[in-house]
Amino acid sequence: MKIAVIGTGYVGLVTGACFAETGVNVTCIDKNVNKINGLKNGIIPIYEPGLEAIVKRGIEKERLSFTSSISQGIKDAEVIFIAVGTPPDEDGSADLSHVLDVAKSIGDSLEKYAVIATKSTVPVGTAKKIKAVIKERLDKRGSDIEFDVASNPEFLKEGSAVEDFLKPERIILGVENDRSAQIIKRLYMPFVLNNHLIIFMDIASAEITKYAANCMLATRISFINEIANLCDILGADINEVRKAIGSDSRIGNKFLQTGPGFGGSCFPKDVKALIKTAKDNDYDLKIVSAVEKANEYQKNVIPNKIANHFGNDLHDLSFGIWGLSFKPNTDDVRESSSIYLIKKLLEKKAKIKVYDPAAMDETKKVFGDSIEYCKDQYEAIENVDAMVLMTEWSDFRLPSFGKMSKIMKGNVIFDGRNIYDPEEIRKNNFIYFGIGRR
Ligand code: NAD
Repeated sequence: MKIAVIGTGYVGLVTGACFAETGVNVTCIDKNVNKINGLKNGIIPIYEPGLEAIVKRGIEKERLSFTSSISQGIKDAEVIFIAVGTPPDEDGSADLSHVLDVAKSIGDSLEKYAVIATKSTVPVGTAKKIKAVIKERLDKRGSDIEFDVASNPEFLKEGSAVEDFLKPERIILGVENDRSAQIIKRLYMPFVLNNHLIIFMDIASAEITKYAANCMLATRISFINEIANLCDILGADINEVRKAIGSDSRIGNKFLQTGPGFGGSCFPKDVKALIKTAKDNDYDLKIVSAVEKANEYQKNVIPNKIANHFGNDLHDLSFGIWGLSFKPNTDDVRESSSIYLIKKLLEKKAKIKVYDPAAMDETKKVFGDSIEYCKDQYEAIENVDAMVLMTEWSDFRLPSFGKMSKIMKGNVIFDGRNIYDPEEIRKNNFIYFGIGRR
């Protein structure tokens, strides 16, 4: 079986490499020629655990290849996945220009029947638009080649993307007929042999499912963050509360971790896009709108704690930031709360030293030489007035507080993820600020 994946980012590259693992012949396509040239030489453009090994294996076994040409890449493909970005437009809606550009190119070069399945997160109605664009281009060529569209939203998580893809909890497939359903089902069977969890549905339902899932998760995060903020005011401890409510099987303990606001390339934009979709259809999504507002507030919780302690003029102060990516095990800093915090501190003229196990290069693209990049977590806190933990990488979980107190100038720790034991920190003569901790 031969397939093509258009867009070689976090989703596309993982998708292509994982399908190649099953013996399928995969061509990954991207308009970024540098990325493609690098990949041909085994250079992986992103940090994702386990990805490098399967990409290299795919190349070695000649099951995985790369091109920047859509016409070349989709030749003989039975399934063509679209996995390009859908960033937020100015009005919050998903920008579909990349998806529709790809649809045009597919229409210009399709030579035989294929299923065009969208993995990008797109609003309801996008598959119909893709179909119309491809049809228009085929008509222009005087071609009557048949094709089907499908919606196959992706649920992998950055940081465990390969694992998630190889062992999915479920596959969502929005299809328009049985022919296309059977083709994609065959492709996914190696991943779901044990549980057969392929859920077929109509295309519109599949398209909205992805937004509903991300908005639900964002809601849980915002909910626990709000309770944590209230714990701060009332003198309760959110870690106790979270354990207690999480033990209720109706609630469960996942996605109840307090933090400095959710970020990343998905939740913020998908929350915005769903609100916009509802608005365009004269419906007010009250809960999801509140989640967006709550998250904007949450991103300021750590900056405000810093201002409460140090005041608003920070020009004589330096801060060591541990963690830059929006979550551990990724180099993705898009919409990261750590990046937001650094911008706020720079506005107040603070000096910033940073360390992250994977996201240093991505952060350099944002801040250039306006901050200091350090070789490890301890160098990042040498002579600083305060340390701020923003991303809970495992490297940061059990630091030597004794060593920290020797090398830091000040004695303040802001724990944006509530991973430290306040008592232990205080015993080491630090002043501790968490979120919602007594
Ligand atoms: P990304 O930015 O990492 O990668 C997108 C890639 O598409 C880039 O390499 C870009 O060069 C390429 N591209 C853009 N236009 C193109 C074109 N016309 N032709 C060929 N290539 C083109 O994006 P991502 O994080 O992989 O996300 C892709 C989609 O999947 C988005 O809709 C996102 O919402 C969704 N999604 C992302 C995740 C995630 O965790 N990142 C999870 C699930 C779903």
